[in-house]
Amino acid sequence: MPNESRPSPIRSGIALKCGRCGQGHLFGSYLKFNDKCDHCGLDFTIADTADGPAFFVGFLVMIVFAPFYFILPMVEMPIFGAILAWTVLIGLMGSFTYFLLPRFKAVLFNLQTRHKAEEAQFESTGRHGSAANSHKT
Ligand SMILES: [Zn+2]
Repeated sequence: MPNESRPSPIRSGIALKCGRCGQGHLFGSYLKFNDKCDHCGLDFTIADTADGPAFFVGFLVMIVFAPFYFILPMVEMPIFGAILAWTVLIGLMGSFTYFLLPRFKAVLFNLQTRHKAEEAQFESTGRHGSAANSHKT
């Protein structure tokens, strides 16, 4: 399949669609991948995003919301206003996280499948100073 006809892994990930065809649904439930694409048949068990999406979403949410957690206690307001403000802040943070987590997971997964990412594999030469067998000519 030519590269131009494939959808962007980022755009298809944000739409929660398969990175190869851009049509099939990635998730069977909130964060659980389907076994394969229901449109093109791509095996969804070939890649694993592990805790990458949680890492990126956690940092993004922390950067966006942390200032409010410092500012809000310094603002003088009646107790009802404080309870309302904290409730809204925590609700927004949870909603933001809930919305972003599957999208980040889908984008990372689509990037992994597009670039055929896999775990690093090392070859030992048994001693220092010589190239691994795979790098010898
Ligand atoms: Zn597909």
